[in-house]
Formats: sequence, structure tokens, C-alpha cells
Amino acid sequence: MAIDDIKAAWELLKKTTSIESQEIIMTLREDHLSLREEILQLKEENSKLRSETENAENLFYEDPYYWKIEGDVKDGPFCQLCNDKQKKQIRLQTGYTKGNWKCHNCKSEYFDKDYIEPDFNSTTVDYSNPFKY
Ligand SMILES: [Zn+2]
Repeated sequence: MAIDDIKAAWELLKKTTSIESQEIIMTLREDHLSLREEILQLKEENSKLRSETENAENLFYEDPYYWKIEGDVKDGPFCQLCNDKQKKQIRLQTGYTKGNWKCHNCKSEYFDKDYIEPDFNSTTVDYSNPFKY
């Protein structure tokens, strides 16, 4: 029943019914408004959960971070901590060297299989390639 129908019924009944009947109708009207509000909240929550589920279906974990697969495209990497705790897919940014990644949301730092520990004792520095030590 639409709210306009309830208003019309209310106006009609005010003229013909007792105070007790009018109070019952008022209570029903308030219940109706409360239920409409609850439906809107549930729709929003449902939409959010659907979105999270769709995102999670395309994610796969490859130590130490997540990747997103859509068709033939591998996108990422994405922060493991942000995804696991907040269900947010935060794109990692390259760090100071190859294999080093940083999350600008939670400030996590990751080192993947391409990471090579810098040799600070080395006397030769190749300035043409900042990722090579
Ligand atoms: Zn993060």
C-alpha cells in the first residue's frame, strides 16, 4: 500500500471513526513508515554485500598479496591485509626496489619473490637501473 493511499484512508476515517480507531490507524501508519525505512536499509546492505561477493570471486591469493582476474586480465597486486580485514581492494604501489610493494591505506609493506636484499657493502652502484643492486 502506498503512503498516499494510507493518507487518503486516514483523512476519510478521521471523519467517520472513533478516536480509538484513529489511534490504531496512526500506529499502523508509523509501522508502515518504519518498515519502508528498514527495507531501504536492507536493500543498501544487500547491494554492498553483492558487490563484495563479486569482488571476492575474482580475487585469488598469491603470497604475499591478492590478484584480481577478470577474463584474461590479471590486475593488481592488492593488499592482503586491507582485503582480509576490510574487504577493500587497495592497489599496492611499487616500493623502493623491485619486489617491494606498499599499501597507502594501511601502510603495510610486502616483499615478493622478486625481491633481492640490497647489498649495502657493495662499492659499485648502477645509477642507470635503480632496481638493480
Ligand atoms: Zn592495506
